[in-house]
Amino acid sequence: MDIQKAREIVCESGKKLVHEGLIARTWGNVSVRIDERKMIITPSGRKYDELTPEDMVLVDIYTLKHEGIKPSSELKLHCEIYKTRPHIQSVIHTHQLYASVVASTQNDVEVLDPEHQKILGAKTIKAAPYALPNSKSLTVDTAKAVGSSNAALMSNHGALCIGTNMDETFKVAHTLEAACKNFIDSKIKSA
Ligand SMILES: [Zn+2]
Repeated sequence: MDIQKAREIVCESGKKLVHEGLIARTWGNVSVRIDERKMIITPSGRKYDELTPEDMVLVDIYTLKHEGIKPSSELKLHCEIYKTRPHIQSVIHTHQLYASVVASTQNDVEVLDPEHQKILGAKTIKAAPYALPNSKSLTVDTAKAVGSSNAALMSNHGALCIGTNMDETFKVAHTLEAACKNFIDSKIKSA
């Protein structure tokens, strides 16, 4: 993908995360793959509403090298996904409400609706064990929890959603939210 186009998509998508309510507590982060070696990611600790495409950070997926503004602190996790899933073109990390509720129980999510299973790419969305933000284990365990599916929960933290383009990835995030809500409802009913 063209670098300038990627900057625009990532900037716009960061704002969309806020407006669509996918970041409930603190900032999440968004990235787009440029090629097998590079990605564009949202910067660290900035208000998304004030960001411009020029504030987005170009990062080398293998060396983590970047220029200018500091990239998001979860950048290693994004790189790990691009390294292990060659067809994935975009990654978003959210603090969306229902996924965060399930993640706070450290349980996997049984995806009850077959339509949701199709979009999420699995019948169960796994929860990676709790790990400190930006740690090696968070990176490795979350990528492992995603496996060949399109999402994972990050225990006591939030969710990771991936896709072959940004629209797909947002669809995964909203579907994960619906699946988590169904899962919680089913637990309440059976309690
Ligand atoms: Zn986070």
